Amino acid sequence: SPTPTQNPSQTQSVPYLFALHGKTIAITGGGRGLGMSLAFAVIEAGGHVACLDILPAPSEQEWASLQKLANVSNLTISYHQCDVTSEIETTNKLETIAQEATTKGAPFSGIVACAGIQQQVPALEYDAQDFERILRVNVTGSFLTAKRAARIFVDQKQGGSIVLIASMSGQIANRGLTCTAYNASKSAVHQMCRSVAQEWGTHGIRVNTLSPGQYIKTDMTNALLDANPEVEKIWMAGALLGRLGTPEDFKAPAVFLLSEGSSFMTGADLRVDGGHCASA
Ligand code: NDP
Repeated sequence: SPTPTQNPSQTQSVPYLFALHGKTIAITGGGRGLGMSLAFAVIEAGGHVACLDILPAPSEQEWASLQKLANVSNLTISYHQCDVTSEIETTNKLETIAQEATTKGAPFSGIVACAGIQQQVPALEYDAQDFERILRVNVTGSFLTAKRAARIFVDQKQGGSIVLIASMSGQIANRGLTCTAYNASKSAVHQMCRSVAQEWGTHGIRVNTLSPGQYIKTDMTNALLDANPEVEKIWMAGALLGRLGTPEDFKAPAVFLLSEGSSFMTGADLRVDGGHCASA
């Protein structure tokens, strides 16, 4: 029968449960956009952060601000160029991050798989190569990230939290957008989360999805708006709180999923979408 995991909520106060003190958290897609914003969240919650991204270097200005913030709290940040679709690269980079974290006395104990791509193509015109490219980054890349992190967590024997950035697009098909491959990829991420959660729970490894929605201003969505400015009206129609999202809206939900505050959550989805799905 499964070995029960610890129940930290019996012994720790709420502010402690929500903090990331003494932990190192990795974030793929952490070179900019939502991933970079989550790097700030980790530092603000007291954790060390390691960002991985296919970009050779992170967004310069934001990285300088992150470094400043980390210095004030005596925390460390590191950047690793990594293509998450390469198993070798992902393995090497995560193992380096885990070793450095152990040396520092702040074990690698959480990861956010945030790297993702999007493409607007009418379904009748989608060719197999483009379709598979989206699936490769969003599904295979998230899987390889989660798998390697889980392998390290199993070896460390201290559990861990894996947060897969999915999307409300994995649950509903947005009107006005032509992103069949993206929607299919994010649905796959939801089911992958439930599957690995049931395999890894006995190791104390929790896996949850965080589903952002509608719509977060980053380079990814700016490209959609540039191509079709009309789409903003469609998005606003479902915005129950009267506004679209910003990267900052996901900082506290992500920290919650990474922290002991969510220690009895696994295989779950945390949808943060300004009410969009509720009104769809
Ligand atoms: P951005 O494009 O701003 O950031 C994504 C980052 O991931 C980029 O730096 C990108 O690099 C990188 N990346 C792409 N492919 C790989 C790869 N193979 N290996 C490593 N890194 C890679 O997007 P967002 O910040 O907006 O999105 C982050 C996540 O949030 C994605 O998973 C997205 O699907 C999800 N999401 C976003 C929403 C939004 O409204 N913005 C809504 C719902 C979900 P490059 O630019 O070179 O491709």
